[in-house]
Amino acid sequence: MQSLDQRRACMIPRSAHKLESADWQIALRDAYTQPAELLALLGLEAAALGLSDAAARSFAFRVPRAYAALMQHGDPHDPLLRQVLPVAAELRQTRGYVSDPVGDLAAQPQPGLLHKYQGRALLVVTGACAIHCRYCFRREFPYGEAVGSARLDAALLALAAAPDIEEVILSGGDPLTLRDERLANLVARVAALPQVRRLRVHSRLAVTLPSRITPALIRWLSSTRLAPVLVVHANHAHELTAEFARALAPLRAAGVTLLNQSVLLRGVNDSPEVLVALSRRLHDCGVLPYYLHALDRVRGTAHFAVSTRRARLLLHALRQALPGYLVPRFVREIPGAAFKVPLG
Ligand SMILES: *Cc1c(COP(=O)(O)O)cnc(C)c1O
Ligand code: SF4
Repeated sequence: MQSLDQRRACMIPRSAHKLESADWQIALRDAYTQPAELLALLGLEAAALGLSDAAARSFAFRVPRAYAALMQHGDPHDPLLRQVLPVAAELRQTRGYVSDPVGDLAAQPQPGLLHKYQGRALLVVTGACAIHCRYCFRREFPYGEAVGSARLDAALLALAAAPDIEEVILSGGDPLTLRDERLANLVARVAALPQVRRLRVHSRLAVTLPSRITPALIRWLSSTRLAPVLVVHANHAHELTAEFARALAPLRAAGVTLLNQSVLLRGVNDSPEVLVALSRRLHDCGVLPYYLHALDRVRGTAHFAVSTRRARLLLHALRQALPGYLVPRFVREIPGAAFKVPLG
């Protein structure tokens, strides 16, 4: 994953960029990029945490300050900290953990365009993210070969020639790291394809940087003729602040379908209490749980794995505690399968 700072430095002269920067763009640039800074803030010792510089070199560390502020001071097991902390366990080789566990590379009719499922196509529109999640299944995705305006032109041409595509998904990286003008333009080009009915955006920015939900974003997402869906990617109720709820309210009022997708992560959300609290809090914020994903087995993430047996027990507890509409579908992505495969 390319660092945001590198990308911007090549695209926009510093001074011009400064003039145009919105609050969220400044917050993106101001993210913590050194684990030591974050640990100092939290009053934690690197040695006791298993922190690894080598892990941080293989996949850069990046955490928005607003997200860091939600971590508990002095708690080495904080579930938000554990999602972002580069640890030595990432360097262990584990059988079955590979660079592209979900078969992304084999599912690209064009670089940056993924087509796995009937009627739905996914555009990788950027490699940049506000936060770097250690469990990310696209940790090793070759973004350099997939993104850019020429790639996007080619992907849109391919979509124009695909009459069965009724839903276009914006993904990445995080698509909402792009500026609103670019996104509005992209959405207009997608909306010009007559067969497309729905626009889905998968982003972790509403959670990690709620100030990203700007009036301009609300405009392009809700004024298109396409039926808009935003999938927010929260893993723990501690991520869902009052600011998050406030940021989403106008989207909901504008008719955007709001869904959540989580990854089941050991040491982060693998308990019935945490998962129940997450579903409840999502509903308070107007978001329905959609998927709970079994970890995609990407190299360096084995320490997050939860056994399927244990996951099924967790799901059983969720079903006991919650109405059916607050129980996420527990799925695993299997390369070559025609849908995300239900596990429980
Ligand atoms: C996960 C995924 C989708 C969406 O699948 P849904 O089951 O509709 O949420 C679409 N395209 C690709 C390439 C995906 O990986
Ligand atoms: S925001 Fe998404 S794409 Fe980016 S690092 Fe996290 S999981 Fe990966």
